[in-house]
Amino acid sequence: MIPFNKPPYTGNEDQYVMAAMRSHKMSGDGEFTLKCQAWFENKLSCAKALLTPSCTQALEMAAILLDVKEGDEVIMPSFTFVSTANAFVLRGAKIVFVDIRPDTMNINEELIEAAITDKTVAIVVVHYAGVSCEMDTIMDLAKRKNIFVIEDAAQGMLSYYKGRPLGSIGHMAAYSFHETKNYTSGGEGGLLIINDKQFVSRAEIIREKGTNRSQFFRGVIDKYTWVDIGSSYLPGELQAAYLYGQLGRVDEISSARNLIWKTYFEGLKDLAPAFIALPSIPESCVGNAHMFYLKLPDIKTRSDVLNRLSAAKIGAVFHYVPLHSSPAGKELGRFNGADIYTTKDSERLIRLPVWFGMTLAEVQHVIGCVRTAVTETSCTKD
Ligand SMILES: *Cc1c(COP(=O)(O)O)cnc(C)c1O
Repeated sequence: MIPFNKPPYTGNEDQYVMAAMRSHKMSGDGEFTLKCQAWFENKLSCAKALLTPSCTQALEMAAILLDVKEGDEVIMPSFTFVSTANAFVLRGAKIVFVDIRPDTMNINEELIEAAITDKTVAIVVVHYAGVSCEMDTIMDLAKRKNIFVIEDAAQGMLSYYKGRPLGSIGHMAAYSFHETKNYTSGGEGGLLIINDKQFVSRAEIIREKGTNRSQFFRGVIDKYTWVDIGSSYLPGELQAAYLYGQLGRVDEISSARNLIWKTYFEGLKDLAPAFIALPSIPESCVGNAHMFYLKLPDIKTRSDVLNRLSAAKIGAVFHYVPLHSSPAGKELGRFNGADIYTTKDSERLIRLPVWFGMTLAEVQHVIGCVRTAVTETSCTKD
């Protein structure tokens, strides 16, 4: 059995998790939270990095900070995880979906302008599989139209666009440290990245239940009080300590993932384009091997191949059901323009196992099973 995912674990986490347990300070914004935030602020050169309990909650904070309200419109791809949309729907926004590009499965930057109305407040880009959207075009458009760009960089930690790390380009961005991502804070976790300084002080307030407690702890004010809306968006120290252990091993984790990705690509590339389509990484981008996916000719072939891989005890999966065709998406959003690739290509896609600790023998075994499944399925077609 080769599982689809195993949470990343290096052994470097233990010492910090134990230290957090023995520190008598396990609630939010302790030593390890501040250390992780400093690591990201240094890596991303952002105005502020704030750990959150999940990427979903970092996106919710971004929506609050943008003052998104009833009747506003937010543009995003339909091929994404529900949280990308929910964070803005919770503030009363209508979601406007735009088609993707088939080469990267990212929002098609050329189709965004046609979706902008006088109600549009933001574009939320999703860097699918850790491969960047075409950010220069999108940032130029947003500037011209005076709207904000939020990067859902849940999958994009340590990927680059024209030399810039993903998450450092939009006005704000969110990372995920869920156990299925490249780096985890022990199962669940996220990060809000703020590049536009105007959002920093309010972000600290919203994250601290709407109080100015952060300023109080820094000694800026002598008592803290309720000053704004807010919620509890602080992770505990155990989460931060686990993540801190991973941050000390990013080179090891990222080179292991890259080797797995390359091995898949080399082992399958002769099947393209006759049997499968492989992911492509534009020249301006450096990926992070978050995910290895391939596309089959159609949905029928995909189910056959997935059945064969499941019989071979290989944890291959597919995602996402496009949001505009889901029950909530139909009610809360609309698709602007034609759906040429979103539905068609989402129905063709499968993801193969990629996790830290997976051996190259296991990768070769998956490659062998995929080759058999893909070629045999194609032979039995009528
Ligand atoms: C994983 C993921 C999320 C949600 O992350 P959580 O940390 O589980 O909340 C959001 N958007 C995308 C694109 C993701 O892949």
